[in-house]
Amino acid sequence: MLLRVRVKMIYSTMPLSNRRFNHKIKHALEARETQGLYRQRACLSRADQSVEHQGKSLLNFSSNDYLGLAQDPAILSAWQEGLTLFGAGSGASPLVTGFHSAHKALEDQLADWLGYERALLFNSGFSANQAVLFTIPDKHDVLIQDKLNHASLMEAGLLSPATMRRFAHNDLSALTRLLHQTNDKSPSINPLVITEGVFSMDGDLSPLATISEQCSQHDAWLMVDDAHGCGVLGDKGRGSCDFSGVKADILIVTFGKAFGLSGAAVMCNNDTAEYLIQFARHFIYSTSMPPSQAHALSAACRLIQSDDWRREKLHDLGHLLFESVENSIQLVDTHTPIKPLIIGDSHKALSVSNALKAKGLWVSAIRPPTVPVNSARLRITLTAAHTEQDIKRLATTLNEVINDE
Ligand SMILES: *Cc1c(COP(=O)(O)O)cnc(C)c1O
Repeated sequence: MLLRVRVKMIYSTMPLSNRRFNHKIKHALEARETQGLYRQRACLSRADQSVEHQGKSLLNFSSNDYLGLAQDPAILSAWQEGLTLFGAGSGASPLVTGFHSAHKALEDQLADWLGYERALLFNSGFSANQAVLFTIPDKHDVLIQDKLNHASLMEAGLLSPATMRRFAHNDLSALTRLLHQTNDKSPSINPLVITEGVFSMDGDLSPLATISEQCSQHDAWLMVDDAHGCGVLGDKGRGSCDFSGVKADILIVTFGKAFGLSGAAVMCNNDTAEYLIQFARHFIYSTSMPPSQAHALSAACRLIQSDDWRREKLHDLGHLLFESVENSIQLVDTHTPIKPLIIGDSHKALSVSNALKAKGLWVSAIRPPTVPVNSARLRITLTAAHTEQDIKRLATTLNEVINDE
């Protein structure tokens, strides 16, 4: 109490110059606004195939719930059942008393499905990526990343003790050069090559077969972040690596996209899992996910494997969208439910997004720094919960709005 009064007094008598964080923050916000880059959260009262925003219902083409599992009755009842069986929270971090039978069952199920010795659960893909990049390479090692890798990988790479090198997006000769340079420098440097399976803002795939071959040739480890491929690509939804016929040394799967829930897992061999359990601070010092959530994730994992129809439907809806938009619309054809429409200018991308909103469609504009400068875009995502009518309505509205711009 005394301390608080004292702090308050100090603040009110503080000269203006000591409040410069306030100025800095205000200036940064003003700059964002003038650059057309100001970001705001939209508060939704519902989000599945349609989002409810300010009393208005809009058709949702910005969700990563690719398989339509986030509202699936089987998942909802699995989570409810998990609550009855295990209670609400996990109660502790995994090395204390936070590792329950539901977590163990999910880890075993993931390892079996994806063909790894071990799976280790994390609360988010962001923390899983940090845990791996802070722990596995040390300061003598080199991380080699695709330039378009997710912000969590870039951030982790910059903060990791290892040296980070980057290669132009999917540029195999640039990757080879970096691998040669690393090996020429010293054979004791361990190179770790990191790419996404599916790039989140472009929906394109990385050439995993060739990358994996190069990694073997140069004795490098390959880490694949398959946040957008797992569940969507490959036999039984096993993801990008299965689709390309490769096995990554470390595979990151996240549960916030096709699984329809949240959380992540690091797939790896037995020793690597044990190593992370000893040394990864994001794992050791963070409360584990609720066991009821792990129970729901197990149900999602079963549906992903059994419901081939969801992947087939996504494929058919993608085709329909392409057939239905006019040729003048530069929609990028992809193998995935991510269909970017590159606009370029940030202000224009925002105004197209707003025009679509006015016509009842929710399609987010993605702007720098999430994507490179001058490549602002609409990131259209399809889900297995969309209907053919939804896709036709999207195409018709895009035809109108883009031609009006
Ligand atoms: C979404 C995403 C993440 C982060 O996963 P969260 O579980 O949402 O923290 C990591 N990598 C990629 C490629 C992603 O798209």
